[in-house]
Amino acid sequence: MTVCNEQINLEKLKKAEQIILELQAELKNYIAAGSGPFLAAIYDENDHLIAKTANSVVSENCSHNHAEMNAIKAAEKVLDTYDLSAHNLKLYVTAEPCIMCLGGIMWSGIKEVYYGVFSKRVEEITGFDEGFKPDWLNEFARRGIKVYGEIATEAGEKVLHEYVAAGRKVYKPER
Ligand SMILES: [Zn+2]
Repeated sequence: MTVCNEQINLEKLKKAEQIILELQAELKNYIAAGSGPFLAAIYDENDHLIAKTANSVVSENCSHNHAEMNAIKAAEKVLDTYDLSAHNLKLYVTAEPCIMCLGGIMWSGIKEVYYGVFSKRVEEITGFDEGFKPDWLNEFARRGIKVYGEIATEAGEKVLHEYVAAGRKVYKPER
């Protein structure tokens, strides 16, 4: 069941399904190469790819190098600005952004967010902690950030199951 914080636009949703399915398929290569299990891509309003990055927490020893944060950082570098709002950018990501990435998205000026697997399912399948995000869809709507979620979840959950089955690292602090 798709989640959305504006009047649903089926054309946007269809495009997002296609992009997220491609990201899920591609994610398998990133996982094989040692990163994953999340992949994010940022496109401009003319659907040109600006940045595409997986998470690199383990390989770069940096707890905030989630896929979305890496993609935002790359886009800001490419466009040479800390404020992406004038570029009307869209972020597509294989799973719902965590608490940190919601902050990163909010302060970057990204205008639209499309995500795959719901956080609760990510936590159930992998054991990652996605944080607490009270009323974030409405908070984003209030700031003019459009969100569509739970897109192509079957393919997304399959990749996460494969990541776990392969015994790959669920990186998080010990508590
Ligand atoms: Zn995150």
